[in-house]
Amino acid sequence: MTGENVRNAFMKKSMRVILTLIITLVIITLAACVEQKAQAAPKAQATQQTGGSEPEVFMQDKMEVHFIDVGQGDSTLIKCGDHSMLIDTGDDTKGTAIQNYLKKQSVKKLDYLILTHPDSDHIGGAPVIITKFEINKVFISNYEKDNKTYRKLIQALDDKKLSYSTPKVGYEFSLGSAAVTILAPDKEYDNPNDASIALIVKNGDNKFLFTGDAEAEAEKDISNSGFDITADVYKVGHHGSRTSTSAEFMRKVKPKYAVISCAEGNSYGHPHAETLNTLRARGVKLYRTDEEGSIIATSDGKDITFNVPPSDTWNSGEPTESSAKSSGESTGSSAKSSGESTGSSAKSSGEPTGSSAAAESKTAQAGASGTTTVRDSAAEVKKSQVQENASDTSEITYILNVKTKKFHRPSCSSLPTTNRKDTSESRDSVIAQGYEPCKRCNP
Ligand SMILES: [Zn+2]
Ligand SMILES: [Zn+2]
Repeated sequence: MTGENVRNAFMKKSMRVILTLIITLVIITLAACVEQKAQAAPKAQATQQTGGSEPEVFMQDKMEVHFIDVGQGDSTLIKCGDHSMLIDTGDDTKGTAIQNYLKKQSVKKLDYLILTHPDSDHIGGAPVIITKFEINKVFISNYEKDNKTYRKLIQALDDKKLSYSTPKVGYEFSLGSAAVTILAPDKEYDNPNDASIALIVKNGDNKFLFTGDAEAEAEKDISNSGFDITADVYKVGHHGSRTSTSAEFMRKVKPKYAVISCAEGNSYGHPHAETLNTLRARGVKLYRTDEEGSIIATSDGKDITFNVPPSDTWNSGEPTESSAKSSGESTGSSAKSSGESTGSSAKSSGEPTGSSAAAESKTAQAGASGTTTVRDSAAEVKKSQVQENASDTSEITYILNVKTKKFHRPSCSSLPTTNRKDTSESRDSVIAQGYEPCKRCNP
Protein backbone atom coordinates (compact mmCIF):
# COMPACT_ATOMS: atom_id res chain seq x y z
CA MET A 1 0.00 0.00 0.00
CA THR A 2 2.52 2.54 1.11
CA GLY A 3 4.96 1.40 -1.59
CA GLU A 4 2.32 1.97 -4.25
CA ASN A 5 1.48 5.40 -2.79
CA VAL A 6 5.07 6.44 -2.88
CA ARG A 7 5.41 5.25 -6.50
CA ASN A 8 2.26 7.17 -7.47
CA ALA A 9 3.48 10.31 -5.82
CA PHE A 10 6.82 9.97 -7.60
CA MET A 11 5.10 9.43 -10.98
CA LYS A 12 2.97 12.52 -10.43
CA LYS A 13 6.01 14.60 -9.53
CA SER A 14 8.03 13.55 -12.53
CA MET A 15 5.05 14.14 -14.86
CA ARG A 16 4.82 17.67 -13.49
CA VAL A 17 8.53 18.26 -14.04
CA ILE A 18 8.29 17.01 -17.64
CA LEU A 19 5.24 19.17 -18.32
CA THR A 20 6.95 22.24 -16.88
CA LEU A 21 9.98 21.50 -19.02
CA ILE A 22 7.88 21.20 -22.18
CA ILE A 23 5.99 24.42 -21.45
CA THR A 24 9.23 26.28 -20.74
CA LEU A 25 10.70 25.00 -24.00
CA VAL A 26 7.65 26.10 -25.97
CA ILE A 27 7.77 29.53 -24.37
CA ILE A 28 11.47 29.94 -25.11
CA THR A 29 11.00 28.88 -28.73
CA LEU A 30 8.07 31.26 -29.19
CA ALA A 31 9.95 34.11 -27.60
CA ALA A 32 12.92 33.52 -29.89
CA CYS A 33 10.64 33.53 -32.94
CA VAL A 34 9.00 36.76 -31.92
CA GLU A 35 12.37 38.36 -31.32
CA GLN A 36 13.62 37.24 -34.71
CA LYS A 37 10.58 38.73 -36.41
CA ALA A 38 11.01 41.97 -34.55
CA GLN A 39 14.59 42.16 -35.77
CA ALA A 40 13.70 41.18 -39.30
CA ALA A 41 11.15 43.93 -39.85
CA PRO A 42 13.32 47.06 -39.54
CA LYS A 43 16.12 45.32 -41.42
CA ALA A 44 13.89 44.81 -44.43
CA GLN A 45 12.82 48.42 -44.24
CA ALA A 46 16.36 49.65 -44.09
CA THR A 47 17.28 47.52 -47.08
CA GLN A 48 14.50 49.05 -49.06
CA GLN A 49 15.51 52.54 -48.15
CA THR A 50 19.21 52.26 -48.74
CA GLY A 51 19.23 49.92 -51.69
CA GLY A 52 20.85 47.24 -49.53
CA SER A 53 24.16 48.94 -48.88
CA GLU A 54 23.92 50.41 -45.41
CA PRO A 55 21.81 49.31 -42.46
CA GLU A 56 21.48 52.95 -41.24
CA VAL A 57 17.93 54.05 -41.86
CA PHE A 58 16.77 57.08 -43.89
CA MET A 59 19.80 57.13 -46.18
CA GLN A 60 18.86 58.46 -49.61
CA ASP A 61 19.91 56.77 -52.82
CA LYS A 62 21.92 58.82 -55.21
CA MET A 63 19.54 60.09 -57.87
CA GLU A 64 20.65 61.15 -61.33
CA VAL A 65 18.43 63.15 -63.63
CA HIS A 66 19.63 63.05 -67.24
CA PHE A 67 18.16 65.69 -69.52
CA ILE A 68 19.09 63.87 -72.71
CA ASP A 69 19.90 66.07 -75.70
CA VAL A 70 17.30 64.98 -78.23
CA GLY A 71 17.32 68.17 -80.28
CA GLN A 72 13.86 69.73 -80.43
CA GLY A 73 11.93 67.58 -77.96
CA ASP A 74 12.13 66.09 -74.49
CA SER A 75 13.58 62.98 -72.95
CA THR A 76 14.59 62.73 -69.31
CA LEU A 77 16.05 59.66 -67.64
CA ILE A 78 15.84 59.44 -63.85
CA LYS A 79 17.95 56.83 -62.10
CA CYS A 80 17.60 56.28 -58.37
CA GLY A 81 19.30 53.34 -56.71
CA ASP A 82 18.64 50.39 -59.01
CA HIS A 83 15.49 51.95 -60.39
CA SER A 84 14.88 54.02 -63.48
CA MET A 85 12.18 56.02 -65.14
CA LEU A 86 12.04 57.67 -68.54
CA ILE A 87 9.93 60.78 -69.14
CA ASP A 88 9.31 61.26 -72.87
CA THR A 89 11.27 59.93 -75.80
CA GLY A 90 12.06 62.73 -78.28
CA ASP A 91 10.77 62.58 -81.85
CA ASP A 92 10.73 59.54 -84.13
CA THR A 93 14.36 60.07 -85.19
CA LYS A 94 15.63 59.83 -81.60
CA GLY A 95 14.48 56.38 -80.42
CA THR A 96 17.75 54.63 -81.19
CA ALA A 97 19.88 57.44 -79.76
CA ILE A 98 17.91 57.23 -76.50
CA GLN A 99 18.20 53.45 -76.55
CA ASN A 100 21.99 53.81 -76.81
CA TYR A 101 22.06 56.43 -74.09
CA LEU A 102 20.15 54.13 -71.73
CA LYS A 103 22.48 51.24 -72.59
CA LYS A 104 25.51 53.37 -71.76
CA GLN A 105 23.84 54.13 -68.45
CA SER A 106 23.46 50.37 -67.87
CA VAL A 107 19.68 50.68 -67.88
CA LYS A 108 18.16 47.35 -68.82
CA LYS A 109 14.72 47.82 -67.43
CA LEU A 110 12.49 50.82 -66.92
CA ASP A 111 10.30 50.83 -63.83
CA TYR A 112 8.24 53.61 -65.40
CA LEU A 113 7.81 55.12 -68.84
CA ILE A 114 5.90 58.38 -68.72
CA LEU A 115 4.78 59.97 -71.99
CA THR A 116 3.64 63.43 -70.92
CA HIS A 117 1.44 64.15 -73.93
CA PRO A 118 0.94 62.86 -77.48
CA ASP A 119 2.98 65.41 -79.44
CA SER A 120 5.55 63.80 -81.70
CA ASP A 121 8.55 65.48 -80.04
CA HIS A 122 7.63 63.59 -76.85
CA ILE A 123 6.35 60.20 -78.01
CA GLY A 124 8.07 59.75 -81.40
CA GLY A 125 10.94 57.65 -80.05
CA ALA A 126 8.71 55.57 -77.78
CA PRO A 127 8.14 52.55 -80.10
CA VAL A 128 11.90 51.81 -80.10
CA ILE A 129 12.12 52.09 -76.31
CA ILE A 130 9.00 49.96 -75.81
CA THR A 131 10.35 47.29 -78.15
CA LYS A 132 13.87 47.20 -76.74
CA PHE A 133 13.37 47.48 -72.99
CA GLU A 134 11.49 45.66 -70.30
CA ILE A 135 9.03 48.17 -68.88
CA ASN A 136 7.06 47.80 -65.70
CA LYS A 137 4.48 50.55 -66.02
CA VAL A 138 3.47 52.98 -68.76
CA PHE A 139 1.65 56.25 -68.13
CA ILE A 140 0.23 58.35 -70.95
CA SER A 141 -1.84 61.53 -71.12
CA ASN A 142 -5.62 61.41 -71.38
CA TYR A 143 -5.35 63.30 -74.69
CA GLU A 144 -5.58 60.96 -77.66
CA LYS A 145 -4.47 61.88 -81.14
CA ASP A 146 -5.54 60.46 -84.45
CA ASN A 147 -2.27 60.45 -86.34
CA LYS A 148 0.46 58.09 -87.44
CA THR A 149 2.86 58.80 -84.58
CA TYR A 150 0.18 58.15 -81.98
CA ARG A 151 -1.07 54.98 -83.68
CA LYS A 152 2.50 53.67 -83.85
CA LEU A 153 2.86 54.20 -80.11
CA ILE A 154 -0.36 52.34 -79.29
CA GLN A 155 0.60 49.57 -81.73
CA ALA A 156 4.00 49.16 -80.03
CA LEU A 157 2.33 48.97 -76.60
CA ASP A 158 -0.18 46.41 -77.85
CA ASP A 159 2.50 44.31 -79.55
CA LYS A 160 4.41 44.17 -76.28
CA LYS A 161 1.14 43.47 -74.41
CA LEU A 162 1.82 46.41 -72.15
CA SER A 163 -1.12 48.07 -70.51
CA TYR A 164 -1.13 51.83 -70.13
CA SER A 165 -3.20 54.38 -68.28
CA THR A 166 -3.44 57.98 -67.21
CA PRO A 167 -2.45 58.26 -63.56
CA LYS A 168 -4.78 60.04 -61.17
CA VAL A 169 -3.68 63.37 -59.77
CA GLY A 170 -2.24 62.70 -56.34
CA TYR A 171 -1.07 59.20 -57.29
CA GLU A 172 2.24 58.45 -55.62
CA PHE A 173 4.91 55.89 -56.25
CA SER A 174 8.50 55.35 -55.29
CA LEU A 175 11.60 55.09 -57.41
CA GLY A 176 14.31 53.80 -55.10
CA SER A 177 14.40 56.29 -52.26
CA ALA A 178 12.67 58.95 -54.37
CA ALA A 179 8.95 59.68 -54.11
CA VAL A 180 7.02 60.67 -57.20
CA THR A 181 3.69 62.50 -57.11
CA ILE A 182 1.43 63.05 -60.12
CA LEU A 183 0.17 66.67 -60.31
CA ALA A 184 -1.72 66.78 -63.63
CA PRO A 185 -3.80 66.47 -65.77
CA ASP A 186 -6.87 66.69 -63.58
CA LYS A 187 -9.32 67.15 -66.45
CA GLU A 188 -9.54 67.08 -70.23
CA TYR A 189 -8.11 69.96 -72.23
CA ASP A 190 -8.55 71.10 -75.84
CA ASN A 191 -4.83 71.76 -76.13
CA PRO A 192 -2.65 68.62 -76.04
CA ASN A 193 0.14 70.58 -74.32
CA ASP A 194 -2.13 71.43 -71.41
CA ALA A 195 -2.99 67.75 -71.08
CA SER A 196 0.62 66.99 -70.15
CA ILE A 197 1.26 64.68 -67.23
CA ALA A 198 3.04 66.79 -64.61
CA LEU A 199 4.95 65.29 -61.73
CA ILE A 200 7.23 66.18 -58.88
CA VAL A 201 10.10 63.89 -57.90
CA LYS A 202 11.40 64.19 -54.36
CA ASN A 203 14.64 62.61 -53.18
CA GLY A 204 15.28 63.59 -49.56
CA ASP A 205 15.25 67.39 -49.57
CA ASN A 206 15.74 67.68 -53.34
CA LYS A 207 12.74 68.28 -55.58
CA PHE A 208 12.42 68.20 -59.37
CA LEU A 209 9.34 69.43 -61.24
CA PHE A 210 8.32 68.22 -64.70
CA THR A 211 5.36 69.73 -66.53
CA GLY A 212 5.81 68.51 -70.11
CA ASP A 213 4.54 71.20 -72.45
CA ALA A 214 1.85 72.46 -70.04
CA GLU A 215 0.92 76.04 -70.86
CA ALA A 216 -0.34 78.87 -68.66
CA GLU A 217 -3.87 77.46 -68.23
CA ALA A 218 -2.60 74.10 -67.02
CA GLU A 219 0.06 75.78 -64.91
CA LYS A 220 -2.73 77.63 -63.13
CA ASP A 221 -4.54 74.36 -62.47
CA ILE A 222 -1.35 72.79 -61.14
CA SER A 223 -0.79 75.83 -58.88
CA ASN A 224 -4.33 75.48 -57.55
CA SER A 225 -4.14 71.72 -57.05
CA GLY A 226 -3.21 72.13 -53.41
CA PHE A 227 0.08 70.27 -53.72
CA ASP A 228 3.36 71.75 -52.60
CA ILE A 229 4.99 72.46 -55.96
CA THR A 230 8.09 74.27 -54.78
CA ALA A 231 11.04 72.68 -56.52
CA ASP A 232 14.80 73.06 -56.67
CA VAL A 233 14.96 72.09 -60.32
CA TYR A 234 12.31 73.10 -62.83
CA LYS A 235 12.35 71.36 -66.18
CA VAL A 236 11.16 74.36 -68.18
CA GLY A 237 7.72 73.79 -69.72
CA HIS A 238 7.33 73.58 -73.50
CA HIS A 239 11.01 74.00 -74.38
CA GLY A 240 11.12 77.56 -73.07
CA SER A 241 8.10 78.78 -75.03
CA ARG A 242 6.51 82.01 -73.80
CA THR A 243 3.22 80.12 -73.53
CA SER A 244 4.57 78.37 -70.42
CA THR A 245 6.60 79.37 -67.34
CA SER A 246 4.18 82.12 -66.38
CA ALA A 247 5.43 84.51 -63.72
CA GLU A 248 2.67 83.44 -61.28
CA PHE A 249 3.64 79.80 -61.72
CA MET A 250 7.28 80.61 -61.00
CA ARG A 251 6.28 82.44 -57.83
CA LYS A 252 4.85 79.13 -56.60
CA VAL A 253 7.60 76.85 -57.84
CA LYS A 254 10.49 79.10 -56.75
CA PRO A 255 13.12 77.13 -58.67
CA LYS A 256 16.84 77.52 -58.03
CA TYR A 257 17.77 75.75 -61.25
CA ALA A 258 16.00 75.42 -64.60
CA VAL A 259 16.69 73.18 -67.55
CA ILE A 260 15.53 73.86 -71.11
CA SER A 261 15.44 71.05 -73.65
CA CYS A 262 15.39 72.36 -77.23
CA ALA A 263 17.38 72.32 -80.44
CA GLU A 264 19.82 74.95 -81.50
CA GLY A 265 18.26 76.93 -84.33
CA ASN A 266 14.80 75.38 -83.88
CA SER A 267 12.05 76.88 -86.02
CA TYR A 268 9.85 77.80 -83.04
CA GLY A 269 12.35 80.31 -81.70
CA HIS A 270 12.61 78.38 -78.40
CA PRO A 271 13.56 79.47 -75.89
CA HIS A 272 11.60 82.71 -76.07
CA ALA A 273 13.05 85.89 -74.56
CA GLU A 274 10.11 86.33 -72.17
CA THR A 275 10.75 82.95 -70.58
CA LEU A 276 14.44 83.69 -70.22
CA ASN A 277 13.66 87.04 -68.65
CA THR A 278 11.21 85.51 -66.18
CA LEU A 279 13.83 82.99 -65.07
CA ARG A 280 16.66 85.48 -65.08
CA ALA A 281 14.76 88.02 -63.00
CA ARG A 282 14.36 85.32 -60.34
CA GLY A 283 18.11 84.63 -60.27
CA VAL A 284 17.60 81.07 -61.54
CA LYS A 285 20.63 79.14 -62.77
CA LEU A 286 19.80 77.98 -66.28
CA TYR A 287 20.98 74.91 -68.19
CA ARG A 288 20.21 74.33 -71.88
CA THR A 289 20.57 71.25 -74.05
CA ASP A 290 20.83 73.39 -77.20
CA GLU A 291 24.04 74.90 -75.86
CA GLU A 292 25.42 72.21 -73.60
CA GLY A 293 24.20 68.87 -74.92
CA SER A 294 22.91 66.34 -72.40
CA ILE A 295 22.75 67.68 -68.85
CA ILE A 296 23.01 65.56 -65.71
CA ALA A 297 21.83 66.71 -62.30
CA THR A 298 22.82 64.55 -59.33
CA SER A 299 20.96 64.56 -56.02
CA ASP A 300 22.23 62.96 -52.81
CA GLY A 301 19.09 63.90 -50.94
CA LYS A 302 20.66 67.10 -49.62
CA ASP A 303 22.55 68.79 -52.44
CA ILE A 304 22.16 68.93 -56.21
CA THR A 305 25.13 69.16 -58.55
CA PHE A 306 25.31 69.51 -62.33
CA ASN A 307 27.81 68.05 -64.79
CA VAL A 308 28.17 71.39 -66.59
CA PRO A 309 28.23 75.02 -65.47
CA PRO A 310 25.05 77.05 -65.98
CA SER A 311 24.61 78.81 -69.31
CA ASP A 312 25.09 82.54 -69.08
CA THR A 313 24.29 83.56 -72.66
CA TRP A 314 20.57 84.23 -72.04
CA ASN A 315 20.24 84.09 -75.81
CA SER A 316 16.72 83.53 -77.00
CA GLY A 317 16.11 81.34 -80.02
CA GLU A 318 14.01 84.01 -81.68
CA PRO A 319 15.08 85.81 -84.83
CA THR A 320 16.54 89.14 -83.88
CA GLU A 321 15.97 92.54 -85.35
CA SER A 322 19.03 92.66 -87.57
CA SER A 323 18.89 89.08 -88.79
CA ALA A 324 15.33 89.50 -89.92
CA LYS A 325 15.55 93.04 -91.24
CA SER A 326 18.97 93.31 -92.80
CA SER A 327 19.16 92.73 -96.51
CA GLY A 328 22.36 90.92 -97.24
CA GLU A 329 25.00 92.76 -95.25
CA SER A 330 24.47 90.60 -92.21
CA THR A 331 27.72 88.82 -91.53
CA GLY A 332 28.45 86.24 -88.93
CA SER A 333 29.58 88.78 -86.41
CA SER A 334 26.70 91.19 -86.79
CA ALA A 335 24.24 88.36 -86.52
CA LYS A 336 26.04 87.24 -83.45
CA SER A 337 26.05 90.57 -81.68
CA SER A 338 22.40 91.08 -82.43
CA GLY A 339 21.76 87.60 -81.12
CA GLU A 340 23.16 88.75 -77.86
CA SER A 341 21.14 91.90 -77.75
CA THR A 342 17.77 90.19 -77.38
CA GLY A 343 18.99 88.18 -74.45
CA SER A 344 20.67 91.17 -72.95
CA SER A 345 17.55 93.22 -72.50
CA ALA A 346 17.82 91.29 -69.29
CA LYS A 347 21.60 91.52 -69.21
CA SER A 348 22.12 95.24 -69.52
CA SER A 349 19.32 96.47 -67.34
CA GLY A 350 20.32 94.27 -64.44
CA GLU A 351 17.29 92.64 -62.95
CA PRO A 352 14.23 93.78 -64.83
CA THR A 353 10.79 92.69 -63.84
CA GLY A 354 9.36 89.90 -65.91
CA SER A 355 6.77 92.14 -67.45
CA SER A 356 8.91 95.07 -68.51
CA ALA A 357 11.42 92.73 -70.05
CA ALA A 358 8.67 90.87 -71.79
CA ALA A 359 7.27 94.08 -73.18
CA GLU A 360 10.69 95.01 -74.52
CA SER A 361 11.20 91.75 -76.28
CA LYS A 362 7.74 91.87 -77.76
CA THR A 363 8.63 95.21 -79.29
CA ALA A 364 11.79 93.77 -80.69
CA GLN A 365 9.85 90.95 -82.27
CA ALA A 366 7.25 93.21 -83.78
CA GLY A 367 10.10 95.18 -85.31
CA ALA A 368 11.69 92.03 -86.55
CA SER A 369 8.69 90.64 -88.29
CA GLY A 370 7.86 94.01 -89.81
CA THR A 371 4.25 93.66 -88.80
CA THR A 372 2.27 94.85 -85.87
CA THR A 373 1.20 91.39 -84.82
CA VAL A 374 3.33 90.20 -81.97
CA ARG A 375 2.02 86.71 -81.45
CA ASP A 376 4.26 83.99 -82.78
CA SER A 377 6.12 86.30 -85.10
CA ALA A 378 9.17 84.24 -84.24
CA ALA A 379 7.92 81.18 -85.99
CA GLU A 380 6.59 83.07 -88.95
CA VAL A 381 9.67 85.15 -89.66
CA LYS A 382 11.88 82.09 -89.63
CA LYS A 383 13.49 80.78 -92.72
CA SER A 384 12.63 82.96 -95.71
CA GLN A 385 14.09 86.26 -94.63
CA VAL A 386 17.13 84.73 -93.07
CA GLN A 387 17.89 82.67 -96.10
CA GLU A 388 18.22 85.68 -98.34
CA ASN A 389 20.99 87.10 -96.21
CA ALA A 390 23.46 84.38 -96.53
CA SER A 391 25.49 84.75 -99.66
CA ASP A 392 28.11 87.45 -99.36
CA THR A 393 30.71 86.09 -96.97
CA SER A 394 33.67 85.22 -99.13
CA GLU A 395 35.88 83.04 -96.90
CA ILE A 396 33.60 81.79 -94.18
CA THR A 397 30.99 79.49 -95.60
CA TYR A 398 29.47 78.03 -92.48
CA ILE A 399 29.49 78.36 -88.72
CA LEU A 400 29.75 75.01 -86.96
CA ASN A 401 28.73 74.00 -83.49
CA VAL A 402 31.27 71.31 -82.71
CA LYS A 403 29.21 70.03 -79.79
CA THR A 404 25.72 69.79 -81.22
CA LYS A 405 27.06 69.05 -84.73
CA LYS A 406 24.81 71.61 -86.39
CA PHE A 407 26.00 73.98 -89.11
CA HIS A 408 24.61 77.39 -89.89
CA ARG A 409 24.83 80.12 -92.46
CA PRO A 410 26.96 82.95 -91.05
CA SER A 411 23.85 85.10 -91.12
CA CYS A 412 21.76 82.71 -89.03
CA SER A 413 20.04 84.39 -86.13
CA SER A 414 20.87 81.50 -83.91
CA LEU A 415 24.62 81.09 -84.08
CA PRO A 416 26.38 79.18 -81.34
CA THR A 417 28.12 81.23 -78.69
CA THR A 418 30.05 78.32 -77.30
CA ASN A 419 31.67 75.42 -79.19
CA ARG A 420 31.65 77.62 -82.27
CA LYS A 421 33.94 77.00 -85.23
CA ASP A 422 33.94 79.07 -88.41
CA THR A 423 34.80 77.18 -91.57
CA SER A 424 35.34 77.90 -95.24
CA GLU A 425 34.63 74.33 -96.31
CA SER A 426 31.91 73.31 -98.71
CA ARG A 427 28.47 72.12 -97.69
CA ASP A 428 29.25 68.54 -98.74
CA SER A 429 32.44 68.38 -96.76
CA VAL A 430 30.73 69.76 -93.67
CA ILE A 431 27.98 67.16 -94.00
CA ALA A 432 30.58 64.45 -94.57
CA GLN A 433 31.97 65.37 -91.15
CA GLY A 434 28.63 64.53 -89.61
CA TYR A 435 27.13 68.00 -89.32
CA GLU A 436 23.40 68.59 -89.80
CA PRO A 437 21.92 71.75 -91.28
CA CYS A 438 20.30 74.19 -88.85
CA LYS A 439 16.54 74.02 -89.23
CA ARG A 440 16.18 77.80 -89.03
CA CYS A 441 18.61 79.02 -91.69
CA ASN A 442 18.56 75.88 -93.85
CA PRO A 443 22.17 76.07 -95.06
ZN1 LIG B 1 7.23 69.59 -76.94
ZN1 LIG C 1 3.71 69.63 -77.14
